[in-house]
Amino acid sequence: MKKIELLFLFILVTNLIVAQDKPKVVLITLDGLRWQELFSGADPLLVANKDFVHDTTALKNQFWKETKKARREALMPFLWNEVAKIGRLHGNRALGSKVDLTNKMWFSYPGYNEILTGHADDERITSNDKLNNPNTTLLEIANHDKRYKGKVAAFGSWDVFPYIVNEERSGVPVNAGFEVAAGANLSEREKFLNELQPKVPSPWGTVRLDAFTHHYALEYMKKEHPELVYIAYGETDDFAHDGEYDAYLKSAKNTDAMIEELWRYTQQDSFYKDNTLFIITTDHGRGTQPLETWKSHGEKIKGAGAVWMILFGKGVSPQGESAQNEQLYSNQIAPTVLKAFDLQDSSKKMKGKPLNILIE
Ligand SMILES: [Zn+2]
Repeated sequence: MKKIELLFLFILVTNLIVAQDKPKVVLITLDGLRWQELFSGADPLLVANKDFVHDTTALKNQFWKETKKARREALMPFLWNEVAKIGRLHGNRALGSKVDLTNKMWFSYPGYNEILTGHADDERITSNDKLNNPNTTLLEIANHDKRYKGKVAAFGSWDVFPYIVNEERSGVPVNAGFEVAAGANLSEREKFLNELQPKVPSPWGTVRLDAFTHHYALEYMKKEHPELVYIAYGETDDFAHDGEYDAYLKSAKNTDAMIEELWRYTQQDSFYKDNTLFIITTDHGRGTQPLETWKSHGEKIKGAGAVWMILFGKGVSPQGESAQNEQLYSNQIAPTVLKAFDLQDSSKKMKGKPLNILIE
């Protein structure tokens, strides 16, 4: 073999190794799930409160335990029995671990913008209106890089996600709101979901039930194997606004099971197995005092800027529940994913520093 051919072969092989070495990323958000429930389970002031619960006996039977530890395990068993052993959970303020938004709006579009773009934009992102995001998300940066082009996808229960991701400009496919799966090679399960979704009415006009978002995402992962997938569950926020604490808790528990299903799937699929980083977070917190502010959020609601984040899978050193004094911010998530992918934010707009969680 000639020297030049050898050199070419060497470059080809090292490129392949580098590409294979990068983790896949599953980024997940639960809309407006409070850190209080994540770390302490059912709230003693709400679980038996007839103003917010239809059947207090049934809800207590399902979610009430003597200790916070037992209550959170009853609420989110996958996160507390498994993820706590292999990953990291940040944001339990009772232990000194703080995660906060840097935007001052404390509602959804500004929260998702911050998570996905790595910076707050309180000048321009000031409503939940369906306006195409002027900022560039990490999904768009990945999709405009030749290594990841066409291997990025987003799924959301809320119908504003195509605008938050700026589907039009980014080219990232977004299945959100009441959209069905499209394309020529739909799986049998996708066809069934398309048939079922219009027949199962959502309680809300702009948000579908999370099971549809979840299964559309899972089917897409099986079929297309995206390197980066973003899944945005929405029910928790809407049930909270409706003042239905029972539905809020049940939805949190269902979402825990859906995250478990995603994790199990990735660990038996050769494309994702042992090489997938999971990051889970929320777009904003909610109130606690006065009591009825648990239903709400926004700049006037005390504590609604307090959030949380969970990381596990490829490259994450296990720490469990963080019990150290620390201050993390939601704007660190996008830079962390870019770092895992070895991608640059060429616009240099990202404010957050990548999280120092990776083994490598
Ligand atoms: Zn909300």
